[in-house]
Amino acid sequence: METENNNKNILEARKSSIVIKDSCSGAKGGICCDSNSVSGSVSQRACVYCGARVVLNPITDAYHIVHGPIGCSSYTWDIRGSLTSGEDIYRNSFSTDLQETDIIFGGINKLEAAVDELMEKEENVKLIFIYATCIVGVIGDDVEALCKIKSNQYGIPVIPVKSPGFSGNKSTGYRMACDAIMNVLLPYKSEQKKKAINILGDFNLAGEMWIIKNYLKEIGIDVISGFTGDTCYEDMIEAPKAALNIVQCAGSSTYLANRMEEEFGIPFIKVSFFGIEDTTSSLIRVAEALEDEEARAKAVEFCSRKQAELKEFLDRYRKNLEGKKAAIYVGGGFKAISLIRQFKAMGIETVVVGTQTGKKEDYEIIESLVEPETIILDDANPAELETFMREKGAHILVGGVKERPLAYKLGIAFCDHNHERKFPLAGFEGVYHFTMEINRSINSPVWDYAG
Ligand code: SF4
Repeated sequence: METENNNKNILEARKSSIVIKDSCSGAKGGICCDSNSVSGSVSQRACVYCGARVVLNPITDAYHIVHGPIGCSSYTWDIRGSLTSGEDIYRNSFSTDLQETDIIFGGINKLEAAVDELMEKEENVKLIFIYATCIVGVIGDDVEALCKIKSNQYGIPVIPVKSPGFSGNKSTGYRMACDAIMNVLLPYKSEQKKKAINILGDFNLAGEMWIIKNYLKEIGIDVISGFTGDTCYEDMIEAPKAALNIVQCAGSSTYLANRMEEEFGIPFIKVSFFGIEDTTSSLIRVAEALEDEEARAKAVEFCSRKQAELKEFLDRYRKNLEGKKAAIYVGGGFKAISLIRQFKAMGIETVVVGTQTGKKEDYEIIESLVEPETIILDDANPAELETFMREKGAHILVGGVKERPLAYKLGIAFCDHNHERKFPLAGFEGVYHFTMEINRSINSPVWDYAG
């Protein structure tokens, strides 16, 4: 009886996070988002610490010490991949591996020993992040104080990342990571500005940062630093000199952009380099934001050329894809928006769309782009995704590592648009990869034998 009541309460609480476009059912007066997950409902979101790790891990020459039980350290480079053109220290994992006695008597001595051991054994350590996980939040180890002591002792930034899983949701982790980045940057505040930009919110999962940088180079715009895809300490500390920040993953990095605007006076614009339409408009808007007429003209010319090159390819694939239906469940709102546009260009209708950390304004754009009766949902759980994908007859799900088994169990195609992807999906190159992957997956004969 109690379970039944709990289920009813969960369904009631979740109602406000589900919208059915132009329908009398679903949430009224806009979707409820950007809030903690409903207790009892197993959300697709990861924990605070994981959010922090996603943002900071791609700093290629940083040492990441996870202060907690070894299980928290399972978020390693191996499952949250990103590519490097230089150092690869970030591919290692360091943990204090807290045991029962540490929980009883405190784990700070173990953490101190871990930092000292690292400094003794490793050469040329420039930057250390120390993640405080759940149990550390409970036993109250003073990680901040230890970081200060070790920073002074070794003369390098040792930065605490306050990320106990219970301190909020994945977005809290993003903010903690952004605060940690700001702690690295603040000593390098500079009044001197260069006509160059920083790219925020791209993690170079499969080489996207390189594609974006190449495009910007093509139109004559210099990039100082990227947060945090393929970035290193020396590049990071130059970032306060930028004239503009561009934000690719709004969910994780708008907070960082706001803080950099407050502290360093760097304005920012949100961009997306997924799909033809968004890549083109983003390049033009970057040039406009810098008031660089020459770069704008180059962007228009470059994008027109790339679009023309893609036309024949897209026409060829369109006949295979037209009339199919897609479900999208991704981290941030901007990615979902780009995906809806990309699917539209392929002749595919988006019938279910949701995000883990989308904001109200993202959902307003999403609602304006999709067809009536489309299901829009925030912070979904597997049961909801399954129900709506079945109900709407989705042929493919685009998501991340946690959504893949769900799609396969339902016998529908899947495309990884997150940390497990092996081909870059950004820019015009990304359109080739994405279209071919969607075609291969959606039209695979295997689905005739599944489900
Ligand atoms: S919820 Fe807590 S214990 Fe679990 S992985 Fe996150 S930080 Fe570690």
